[in-house]
Amino acid sequence: MQTLGNYINGQHIASQSGRSQSVFNPATGEAQTQVSLASADETRDAIAAAATAFQSWSQVTPLNRSRVMFKFKALLEQHRDELALLITKEHGKVFSDAQGELTRGIEVVEFACGIPHLLKGEHSMNVGRGVDSYSLMQPLGVCAGISPFNFPAMVPLWMFPIALACGNSFVMKPSEKDPTVPLKLAELLTEAGLPAGVFNVVNGDKEAVDVLLTDSRVQAVSFVGSTPIAEYVYATGSAHGKRVQALGGAKNHMLVMPDADLEQVTSALMGAAYGSAGERCMAISVALCVGDEVADALVAQLQQEISTLKVGPGTGVSPEPHMGPLISRQHADKVLSYINAGVAEGATLVADGRNFVVSQHQQGYFVGPTLFDKVSPAMSIYREEIFGPVLAVVRVPSFAEGLALINQHEFGNGTAIFTGSGEAAREFTAQVQVGMVGVNVPIPVPMAFHSFGGWKRSVFGPLNMHGPDGVRFYTRMKTITARWPNGQAQGNQFSMPTMK
Ligand code: NAD
Repeated sequence: MQTLGNYINGQHIASQSGRSQSVFNPATGEAQTQVSLASADETRDAIAAAATAFQSWSQVTPLNRSRVMFKFKALLEQHRDELALLITKEHGKVFSDAQGELTRGIEVVEFACGIPHLLKGEHSMNVGRGVDSYSLMQPLGVCAGISPFNFPAMVPLWMFPIALACGNSFVMKPSEKDPTVPLKLAELLTEAGLPAGVFNVVNGDKEAVDVLLTDSRVQAVSFVGSTPIAEYVYATGSAHGKRVQALGGAKNHMLVMPDADLEQVTSALMGAAYGSAGERCMAISVALCVGDEVADALVAQLQQEISTLKVGPGTGVSPEPHMGPLISRQHADKVLSYINAGVAEGATLVADGRNFVVSQHQQGYFVGPTLFDKVSPAMSIYREEIFGPVLAVVRVPSFAEGLALINQHEFGNGTAIFTGSGEAAREFTAQVQVGMVGVNVPIPVPMAFHSFGGWKRSVFGPLNMHGPDGVRFYTRMKTITARWPNGQAQGNQFSMPTMK
């Protein structure tokens, strides 16, 4: 069986750490590859390669750096289906969903292709007599990225294309659960002309992460994953003087108003709750229905739709199922334990995803689509992120009480309102304490040229991923004040300089 190692200085390097783990096909439960878990020394080797490569890469002109990104984008498009199939085999999401993930990632590369424009900075002529001021947006140095299992291509692509285009070098630490695609991305970058050492991949776990968070050569860390680890990464990286952006978990609510088009709501919820088996940080896991009439009608429609939902391996063979397996046996068991908890806590189980078997895939990590009605805010299935195909319907008497519930929740990643009322939508978007908001849009993931990030305990650090925040995160500003050629101040000046 193949063992995946690291990608350092433009080549694959077998790990000598002596630690490794299996990478499974979640649809079959079979181990298909091994991945080594890098030692601290191997992680330091990757940082050293990146630090050396930074010296020359930061001097390459933005135009030439953008040309590498253009070639990388073309290669990603050329290899899109091959990469999508690898995602399906390691993550389990269906092929068309994996293709969609790649498309969203490629859009960030497209954004990074515009880097000469994005790095133009600011210029003010004559801030004083004969004095000009201008700002430079300079790269930071070695940046690191740590990514979760649920988007093995898109989340790394949120990070490194912008970092590299800004002139930084990079060490990527992908999820050890689906490590193949990030290594392929490294190969494609090399093929696109990126010099050796500018982009490196270290496969590993906490041992590698802790080196990235503490080594003084790493200037900035981008993290996406669960909230406890995001908080740890933010605290540790910041304590070691690094710039950190750390995105965490979510519990996304959809507020369904009595005037919403229920057919539209039902189809939006089916995709947003059960697409990718609920393993999306922007999945909707709570439907807040304003009034019993809406709730009764919606639950009936969802129950009907769930009965036709196809679950199975998403290998790209048509007809494709709607939803694949979960990432691991351990995670499927965790999701099942939440369903048991919901029953024990007194919620009404409308669709039961337990004991769900896909024929010829008995060992796969499948959990069926699950729907709870009459969920109350005190229940664990409401409070906690389940990250599986489990949708909770909560009944609220009014818009105001629905909004208050969303605002009281510890997470604030995404949310949506479904309504025909412009007034309700406007009030909702103004008052809701959540970073990404949809109006009749269930999964409001911002495009690459906007920034992605939540509020509250869904994010740590002031700057979000990609878009304008991405460029700000991966550059630091230097402001020059210059006087040429003969306007030197006469004599010593001891008071605060002011422009005359
Ligand atoms: P995770 O937190 O377990 O792992 C994320 C990364 O951290 C991985 O690379 C992993 O190797 C590393 N890691 C894990 N434990 C660590 C430790 N103790 N010390 C240091 N590093 C450690 O998350 P996951 O299970 O891979 O991904 C699912 C989570 O990611 C969900 O909570 C989901 O909401 C979140 N997520 C958030 C966003 C967002 O944009 N906010 C996007 C995608 C996923």
